[in-house]
Amino acid sequence: MAGEPQDDCLFCKIVAGHVPATIVRETDTTVAFRDINPQAPTHVLVIPKAHYTDAATLAAAAPDLAADVLRETQAVADEDKLESYRIVFNTGTGAGQTVFHAHAHVVGGRGLQWPPG
Ligand code: IMP
Repeated sequence: MAGEPQDDCLFCKIVAGHVPATIVRETDTTVAFRDINPQAPTHVLVIPKAHYTDAATLAAAAPDLAADVLRETQAVADEDKLESYRIVFNTGTGAGQTVFHAHAHVVGGRGLQWPPG
């Protein structure tokens, strides 16, 4: 069922505390933790605690929760004092999504090029 924890989902395991992560923020509905393979000085993933496969599914099924995730990206950027940063939701394998639990990458702390690769 939409939103229910999935046994085979890495990020559900992080939410449950079954896989360790460097958690930087937590709310009733979201968790933010440092990416294990950082691409910039700040590289934090913000996820809903509930399981949705990607950002589009999350936004369609639970728009208030999607807003919670976006609000937390701002909080992460504020805590790391980022003036400029990028929020990325890779959606689908062709866009580089590898973990199918919706997550926002907050990337900053260095100059960023556009367009991305
Ligand atoms: P995606 O490629 O957009 O799906 O992003 C998944 C991200 O999860 C990648 O940037 C990975 O480095 C990151 N990642 C994978 N496993 C872990 C973990 O156990 N802890 C923190 N980040 C992880």
